[in-house]
Amino acid sequence: MTTPLALLVALFTHPHPVVKPAVQYTLRVDSADLSGWSVEIRLRTVSDTFRLAMAAHPEYDDRYWRYVRDFAVEPSSATFTKVDSAVWQVVAPRGVVSVRYRIAPPPAERSPRAAWRPFLAPTGGLVGGPHAFMYLLGAERMPVMVTLDLPAGWAIATGLGRTVDPHRFVAENAATLVDDPILVGRFREWRFVEGGIPHRVIYWPLPDAVAFDTAAFVSSVQQTVRQTIALFGHTPYRDYTFLFQDGAYGALEHRNSVTIGAPSKDLGSDPHALLMETAHEFFHTWNLMAMRPSEYRDVDYRTQSPVSTLWFSEGLTMFYADLLLRRAGMQLHDSTRIAHLERLMSSYQNNPAYTRFSAEQVSRVAYNSEPGALGDYSPSTHLQGELIGTMLDLIIRNATHGRRSMDDVMRLLFNGTSAIDGRVVEQAVETVCTCDVTPFFEAHVRNAAAIDFDRFLGLIGLKTSVTRAPAVSNGEPERDLRIYGWEPDGDSGVKLIVTSPASVWGRAGLHSRDRLVAMNGAPVRTWSELRTKLLSLRMGDTVRVEVQRSDGPFAASVRVAGFERATVRIEGTPNAIGQAWLGGNP
Ligand SMILES: [Zn+2]
Repeated sequence: MTTPLALLVALFTHPHPVVKPAVQYTLRVDSADLSGWSVEIRLRTVSDTFRLAMAAHPEYDDRYWRYVRDFAVEPSSATFTKVDSAVWQVVAPRGVVSVRYRIAPPPAERSPRAAWRPFLAPTGGLVGGPHAFMYLLGAERMPVMVTLDLPAGWAIATGLGRTVDPHRFVAENAATLVDDPILVGRFREWRFVEGGIPHRVIYWPLPDAVAFDTAAFVSSVQQTVRQTIALFGHTPYRDYTFLFQDGAYGALEHRNSVTIGAPSKDLGSDPHALLMETAHEFFHTWNLMAMRPSEYRDVDYRTQSPVSTLWFSEGLTMFYADLLLRRAGMQLHDSTRIAHLERLMSSYQNNPAYTRFSAEQVSRVAYNSEPGALGDYSPSTHLQGELIGTMLDLIIRNATHGRRSMDDVMRLLFNGTSAIDGRVVEQAVETVCTCDVTPFFEAHVRNAAAIDFDRFLGLIGLKTSVTRAPAVSNGEPERDLRIYGWEPDGDSGVKLIVTSPASVWGRAGLHSRDRLVAMNGAPVRTWSELRTKLLSLRMGDTVRVEVQRSDGPFAASVRVAGFERATVRIEGTPNAIGQAWLGGNP
């Protein structure tokens, strides 16, 4: 960033902006019509032609350019054309130009709603971000002003910079503008300070919300924040807002906020029900948002290209969500780190994908890919990355006689200036352990060699024992249902996803992305229909599956059977380094 621009940013991010930025947004919600939201962009132009674009989120490209209605430009002599699905070009006399449009998404098809998707209800909603604001191409680094025109009595919670006017906010650049969600309406709010930094917890309830222990809920969030800041030493933000929403699922990290689906009925039975997810998303504020993959762009309307280090961005985030909650003294589902690792290793053993696809290959299809991207294999970059991170932690602890750990790698990468790629992570590990991990990265990150768990657990005095037995569920032999259906967007019908070539479905010749035509002669058109049929199958049944492929029809006869499942247990007595690891010590 150049000095004059830095100065400009400093002026506008001050709580009392001295001058107004040249681009001003107004987002309007009308309580009489909650079918969408209107946006006005006023800008002072210095050329006849400019372009506005709707950004694509790198993880979840919801393509809201599809829902733009009533695009209009003033003065009346101005004209516009759509030059790309997400880009509008405006030709207007230089000076003040006003662009108006409305976003009207179709009524939610699925309930509950994903927490990062915008919505409007009589008592509030989620607006802003890539679902509302177009950004000015070529002016991505310019600060902009955002004014919210909302129904009476609605409050606002967002990570955008505040001004003296409670309805007016500043985004220091286009990336911030399209990143920051805005929760509006009637909600509850708590505040606390950790690391000298203000944090807010917002809870937006449905009208029929179940009561829950809010003190325990907020306290556990604060504990999570405290442990995360203790690990990194400082924050990449100046203030932070948790946006918890009733009636929603899932979560999405942002630069200084997070949207989290938090059904009150779940919190009613356990105020810590969302804690693991909260810790995960909060950790992403560092590991993904601040420590960004090298393939990430600041803001772009084009779909994110594949990212090869999600094994690190997601896997180490899984690793630390578990570890930091243990450090905070929280009771977790896996009672110990041993139990947690046993569960991960069992999943690893039961999925042939991990010895077929490298961590980088799995990373590259983790975001923005349709199901079946790796054929009849369904690996998780989260699980593969968490296990790689765990083994690296053991290597570092062993090489440094327990003096250093993965914590030091995270701090080194956070305080460094490099974008995250495989070599950068490898070098950071080597700097911390003063050991050679190139063979490890070559084998498990860049290639798909099976992880020899005993070799690394042996460093802390432990080893594994693997038993294989017929899979059992609720005391009954488990049917092999390692298959599911997927309904492609904008397509009719359902496609099969075979999750293991060793399943009865894979062995019968079926493949992922086969279009399902019929089962036992009856047409099947949706995943819901397919699921009902799958769940009604009994051990020993034979089902005839007819599918359509690009090279013609295919039919398979599948006999429903049980399957074998590996269970990994950890044995032995941990040495001193192992004791420290087991205790979750830094
Ligand atoms: Zn994540």
